[in-house]
Amino acid sequence: MIEFDHVSKRYKDVVALDDVSLVVPSAEFTVMMGLSGSGKTTLLRTVNRMVTPTSGTIRIDGVDIATLNPITLRRSIGYVMQEGGLLPHKTAFENVRLIARIAGQSDVDARANATAMLSMVGIETAQFDRFPHQLSGGQQQRVGVARALATKPRILLMDEPFGAVDPIVREELQDELRRIQRELELTVLFVTHDRYEALRIADQLVVLSHGGHVEQRGTPATITGHPATEFVAKLVGVPWSG
Ligand code: ADP
Ligand code: MG
Repeated sequence: MIEFDHVSKRYKDVVALDDVSLVVPSAEFTVMMGLSGSGKTTLLRTVNRMVTPTSGTIRIDGVDIATLNPITLRRSIGYVMQEGGLLPHKTAFENVRLIARIAGQSDVDARANATAMLSMVGIETAQFDRFPHQLSGGQQQRVGVARALATKPRILLMDEPFGAVDPIVREELQDELRRIQRELELTVLFVTHDRYEALRIADQLVVLSHGGHVEQRGTPATITGHPATEFVAKLVGVPWSG
C-alpha cells in the first residue's frame, strides 16, 4: 500500500501539489487521471523519490520512504516513462539485462530474468537483438515494461506509458498489462489523461484537478455513474445533473 499523507510540492511560486492525501491499495491497478499540468507526474515521482515533497509524508507498507536509501528504494520500484527511455545504443535484451545486473542479480540470473520478462511482455526471441530504433513504438513500450519488471518490483509506476502508441496496439498493451498485473499481483500506479484508457484499465480511478487535488476516487463504474462534481463528469465524459 502506498499512502500519500498531506503531500505538497512547490517550485518557487508554482504549487505543483497542494496537500494531497491518497491511499493506493496493494495488488490493485490504480489510475490517476487529470488534465495536463494537474500534478500527475510530480505525484508519481514522489513515490520513488525522484521528486522530494516540500511537505508531507509518503509511506509504503507503513514505512516513511524519506527514511529509506533512495537508490535501494528506486530499485524496488518499476518506473515506465511515456517515451520508454530505452538506451538507444543497447539491444532490447541488453536494456533489460543491464537493469537486472545493476540491481545486483548474478549474470546468469539477469540473463534468465531478461529472457523471461521480454517473453512475458510479448517480445519474440528474434527481436531480442534489435536496437530500439528497429522496434515499433508499441514494441519499445513492451521492452520498457520488461525493463521495469526486471528487478522484480512489487510496485510499478507508469507515466502515460502508451501515449505515443496507436489505438489498436494500445488496447492490446492495456490488456496484457492487466494480465501481468494480476499474474504478478503488482501494485500499479498508472497516470493518463485519456479517459477511455483510464476507464478501461482501472480497478480504482482517481480523478485529479489542479495541484493534484483529489476530486473523486472509486471504481470506474461508480465514478461514471455518480460523478461527485461537474469537473469529474466532464473529465470522464458523462452528463452532469448537479
Ligand atoms: P502533469 O504530469 O499532470 O501534466 P506535472 O506534475 O508535470 O503535471 O506538473 C504540475 C505543475 O508543476 C505544472 O504547473 C508544471 O509546470 C510544474 N512543474 C513540474 N515540474 C516542475 C519543475 N521541475 N520546475 C518547475 N515547475 C515544475
Ligand atoms: Mg505528466
